[in-house]
Amino acid sequence: MMEHKLKIYNSLTRKKELFVPINSPYVGIYVCGPTVYGDAHLGHARPAITFDVLYRYLMFLGYKVRYVRNVTDVGHLENDSDDGEDKVERKARLEHIEPMEIVQRYLNNYHENMRQLNVLPPSIEPQASGHIIEQQQMIRKILKNGYAYLVNGSVYFDVEKYSNQHHYGILSGRKIDDLLSNTRKLEGQDEKHNPFDFALWKKASPDHIMHWPSEWSEGFPGWHLECSAMGTKYLGETFDIHGGGMDLLFPHHECEIAQSVSANGVSHVKYWMHNNMITINGQKMGKSLNNFITLYELFSGKHELLEQAYPPMVIRFFILQAHYGSTVDFSNEALQASERGLKRLTKAWELLQEIKTHEDSSEDFLQWFEKCLDALNDDLNTPVAIAQLFEAARLVNLLKENVSNFISVSDLQKFKGQFYLIASEILGIDLGWQGNVGGGIEEELIDLIINLRLEARKNKDFTTSDNIRNALVSLGINLKDTKDSTSWDKI
Ligand code: ZN
Repeated sequence: MMEHKLKIYNSLTRKKELFVPINSPYVGIYVCGPTVYGDAHLGHARPAITFDVLYRYLMFLGYKVRYVRNVTDVGHLENDSDDGEDKVERKARLEHIEPMEIVQRYLNNYHENMRQLNVLPPSIEPQASGHIIEQQQMIRKILKNGYAYLVNGSVYFDVEKYSNQHHYGILSGRKIDDLLSNTRKLEGQDEKHNPFDFALWKKASPDHIMHWPSEWSEGFPGWHLECSAMGTKYLGETFDIHGGGMDLLFPHHECEIAQSVSANGVSHVKYWMHNNMITINGQKMGKSLNNFITLYELFSGKHELLEQAYPPMVIRFFILQAHYGSTVDFSNEALQASERGLKRLTKAWELLQEIKTHEDSSEDFLQWFEKCLDALNDDLNTPVAIAQLFEAARLVNLLKENVSNFISVSDLQKFKGQFYLIASEILGIDLGWQGNVGGGIEEELIDLIINLRLEARKNKDFTTSDNIRNALVSLGINLKDTKDSTSWDKI
């Protein structure tokens, strides 16, 4: 087991902590996966890619990682509530097919999109509908320990009772007293004792399609329960890392902690990690805002907000150019900049294969690698690691162009290995990616024209400079001048 300095931000303690597994060299990760009732979208890409890099990095550090990412196929009701229709069932009803056909279709779609994004498959991908017995066993434990109650065939978690002995709100920072005073409804309107109690088991209404027998009723499990039950089954009563989107922190993950503590007597997760959200042109993504973009639309360019198709590798690279804990804003401009950046890296990799070696090296060409590792150890700071890869690309260009820079055989070998390790194995970038056919030459030509214009400006030939600018604008190329350089994007 190699020494490492990986620190991760723990949402539970709100601190960056050195990562120390419970049972080294084994590491257990559980990530909340998709609810499969529609095409995979941008909101699915970010957690998948974030925890894929974590998974890859932990394996690089030498750990034996069991990565569990679940599939929600039952019990996730509209608006994440305890009433309303099951999301999968609703879709099945609309299309007059079996709920499991919906699940299979969108799970296939999700897997295909993940493969395109170069996301490694998890070690285990359990489905909620295949773990009804485990969920029922957990409900029995919670009932026996006195933290749940039965009403009309449904079982609810008693949040107030739990919070008398434990800290409900430990993860989200919410205070039970505020919840009590802000959400109290009139008596008798609900089966629940309190509006924030949540269902562990729901009695199925007569028109509900997916239901299972139990001693409480013919019914189905509550959404939060599957993750507690399947996490325990595959990773044990306590495990190392639980991940998911920040939108799941409350109530989903808060409820998971409450369930696990009341069933098993222990808080089940050592490190909670949450990726931040994606916005589109500064706005939250949502069906009502008409800015809801599926991965298929993104890869094919078939959405009114998109100026072009964005290949999966560009999406992956773009997402990694932001730290997982920050929001990331999608815009055509930003994606096009990422596409150019990615081309720069894959081009550098190509050039790296052609570098000629020397007896020794003219300078230390390997410092960027240590900085990459420092960045990844600092709570998976992928944008800083990528900045170091750009530094490596700059060195490659120096070695290629400039005779006063040279590198030894052994340094070149290390350089190649390190570049491949960071870019391909850890960040999951396909270094053979070339972008759209013909796209490269077009961009090189634009860069060439921009350099000619810069030359004209240096010579105070402003007529030529303005003519070039106007000609480019008429072709849909917009120039932005700064003090000593010019950048461009497509209008
Ligand atoms: Zn979950």
